Order: sequence, then structure tokens, then C-alpha cells
Amino acid sequence: MAIGIGLLGLGTVGTGTAEILLTPQGRHPLLGEVILKKAGVRSLDKPRKVDLPEGCLTTDLKAIVADPEVDIVVELLGGIEPCRTLILEAIANGKHIVTANKAVIAKHGEEIFKAANQAGVYVLLEAAVGGGIPIIKPLKQSLGVNRISRVIGIINGTTNYILTQMAQHGADFADVLKEAQDLGYAEADPTADVDGGDAADKIAILASLAFGGRIRREDVYCEGIRTVSAADISFAAKLGFVIKLLAIAERPDIEEEALQLRVHPTLVPEEHPLASVNGVFNAILVEGSPLGEVMLYGPGAGAGATASAVVSDIVHVVGLLHSDTTVRNQSEKTLNPLLGCSHEHYSPILSIDTLKTRFYARFLSQDLPGVIGDLGTRFGNHQVSLESVVQIGLQDDCAEIVVVTHDVYEANFREALNEIKGLEAIKDVPSILRVL
Ligand code: NAP
Repeated sequence: MAIGIGLLGLGTVGTGTAEILLTPQGRHPLLGEVILKKAGVRSLDKPRKVDLPEGCLTTDLKAIVADPEVDIVVELLGGIEPCRTLILEAIANGKHIVTANKAVIAKHGEEIFKAANQAGVYVLLEAAVGGGIPIIKPLKQSLGVNRISRVIGIINGTTNYILTQMAQHGADFADVLKEAQDLGYAEADPTADVDGGDAADKIAILASLAFGGRIRREDVYCEGIRTVSAADISFAAKLGFVIKLLAIAERPDIEEEALQLRVHPTLVPEEHPLASVNGVFNAILVEGSPLGEVMLYGPGAGAGATASAVVSDIVHVVGLLHSDTTVRNQSEKTLNPLLGCSHEHYSPILSIDTLKTRFYARFLSQDLPGVIGDLGTRFGNHQVSLESVVQIGLQDDCAEIVVVTHDVYEANFREALNEIKGLEAIKDVPSILRVL
């Protein structure tokens, strides 16, 4: 069987994908049946790192999604449009879709999967989360019989690189961001990475797979890493923690359907497996019953790693086309339930106020007797009990005090904080972070 591939995009991931498709020797035997028919780009004049078959490169992306010789459209453009429109057109033309685009799936997943189910085609997205790390198929298949209680990910390589550099060199955020941009680890516009949006897109996708309901992307609570300072990283280290941008999806009460979804910088205990995930690497920890904990770790981005995930999806579709000719029958019933999307409802999402967690807070106060006692009393007024209170040192004329709470409700903590900010002795609260 010959399966035609239409690539949309020949950038970092598109080039890595074309390289695998054009050198099938020694890889999965089904790759021998795959033919790269077209690769769609913006500019025909750009030098390309891969030798494509004659006539393969085109700027006419609409023709690719309508081409009768293309069976699988592989979307590697990035962003929302024209991706959403091209994916929907390809689906309407009966093409299967493979994509690495978390943004379009997190935002328009419902529309795309509805259309795919009606057309009887697959939309596979292994590369959209964790780059080369297999996590989508494991969640759908190998881990799918477990009752998942929590998924925690370090799923943005740029922010993990920045936080790792800050920890290793005591450097400030702005300096490390500039260096990361010069090295090509951060985009010229770093907003989606450093403000947590990219991680939020990805945890929305993981939550929908782990917990079996659709997720509205805007329901993911999101804080980025711009406010994390070298001082916090250093104080956290003294207390036995490293700071990581975590994306967390959990079901606090396993008997209830409601989920908590959040992305924020987090103090992670040094001995926790996620604490040693450094640089641009990603890791995803899945907790479920009866399995317990599984952690998947690896390269979260890069041409080869991401292309590995893209081509694994292509091979999956080829395998399905082989084993089940009804896949081409354009009927909803023919989709393999292990690979199709069957979500019909939205998961209820809990407000961040209901989160129960430990907090770290750093205060700058007048260096007066009784301030620490006063802090304890004000926290106590709102049922916030303290695990530790440490005066770290003096900054200008102010005492620097770091507080770590026991598990408390976010709403109570915020109320206590409002009261404390009104105290005359408290000059500033430069940072508030949650603790894993
Ligand atoms: P990229 O290097 O910027 O490449 C984008 C490609 O798409 C280029 O070939 C570009 O054409 C083409 N393109 C973009 N917009 C177009 C348009 N409107 N019309 C025609 N062609 C257009 O992007 P990438 O890093 O490969 O990322 C692709 C996707 O993979 C994104 O969704 C990204 O989030 C995802 N992803 C990337 C990585 C990674 O490590 N890079 C990891 C995981 C997931 P020209 O070449 O002519 O400019």
C-alpha cells in the first residue's frame, strides 16, 4: 500500500520529519510504504536542509489539503491560522491529520475532533506535548486503565532552561532570557513561553486525555516565571527546594469529576524526581491507581526529537489503514477507539481559591522586634498555619523574612496576605510561590 504524505511546513520540525521519511532504511518497515508527495512553505527561495523529490516544494497549501494523492496531512506550521482552516479543509477532504501544534488543538480541539469524527479520520498529536517524549499514546493506551489522579509536567523547555541557568549561575531572569534568545532557545517574542501560555496549552491537552473530558483552555490558571528572582532561587535552595515551572492537572477528590488545572512556578523538594529535570529537557509525572507513579523524561523539543513523535503518528495511521480498510469508509463508527477522540462533555474546573497547597512568601519588613510574631498571628487569623519562618538577612534597611506554610486553602492564604500587606512594618511582598 502506498500512503501519500502532504507536509504543511518545512521549518525545524518539518525538515526533521522529511529527513526521516526520506531515509526509511533501518526504521519501522511501514515507513517503506510512505511517500512524501508535497511540502508546503511560505517561500520557495529559502535554502532548505533536506533534498526533496522534484516538484515536491510548493507555496500552495490549499492544493496540498485537496490533493487526491495525499492521504495524511502533517501540519507543522505553528500558530492558529491558517492551521485551523487548513486542518478543517483537509478533514473535509477525508485526510488524516498529524500535527505538532498544541496551540490550535488547545483552542480549537472541539471543532477539529468533531469534524474528524464525522469524516471518519484520525487527528494524532504526539509531538504537540513533550516533543520527542511519548506521552499522548501512553495516556490514551498503556496508562488508560488506571484512574489518573494527577499529571505534573515540566513541559516548556525554554522556561526550564532559564530557571536552570538562574539556579546554576545566580543570574537574574532578564539576563538569562537575553542569553537564551541569543542561543536560539527562546523566541524573539518569548511571551507564550515565559508567561506560561505554552505550558497551559499542553496541560489542557494532557488533562483532557488523562481525565476524559474536554477542557476549555481559558480555564487553566496560569502564572509565568517573570517574577521569579535570583534571590528566591537562592532562598529556596537554602530551604531544600528548586524552582520549576510546573503544569499540573489533578482531580483532588477521586470520587468527584471536578479538576484543578494550573501552571505556575513552584518550589519542588530537591529529592523529588522532577527537581533534577534541567535545561531544555521535559518530564511528565503521571499518578494513577493502581499503577502508582510513572515519569517520562526526554528531549521536549528539537528537530529530530519532535520529528520522531510526528513520524510515529504517521506510522500509526499507516498501520490502521493496513489493518482496517473500513477506516476509509468515512463513518464515525469505524474509528479505532484507542486513537480517536470520544470526549463529549467539558470537565468541571475548580477555582484556584479552592486549591489546598503549601505556600512560600518573602516579605520585606522594618527590622523591628515582634514582626515575626505578628506575621504568625495574622496568618493564624485566617487558618493559615506556618511550617517555617526564617529571617534570611537584611536588604537595604529592611529585614527579609521567608515564610513556608503548611497545606492551606489558597483563598485563606490570600485573605491573610491582604491583612498583612496593611501592616505598617511590612514594606513589600516581592514573591509568593506555591510549594509542591
Ligand atoms: P518553524 O521552524 O517556524 O517552521 C514553520 C514552517 O511553516 C516553515 O517552513 C514556514 O515556511 C511554514 N509556514 C509558516 N506559516 C506559513 C504560511 N502561512 N504559509 C505557508 N507556510 C508557512 O516552526 P517549527 O519550530 O518547525 O514548529 C512547527 C510546529 O511544531 C509548531 O506548531 C510548534 O509549536 C511545534 N513544535 C515545535 C517544536 C520545536 O522543537 N521546534 C517542538 C514541539 C512542537 P518557510 O520555511 O518558507 O518560512
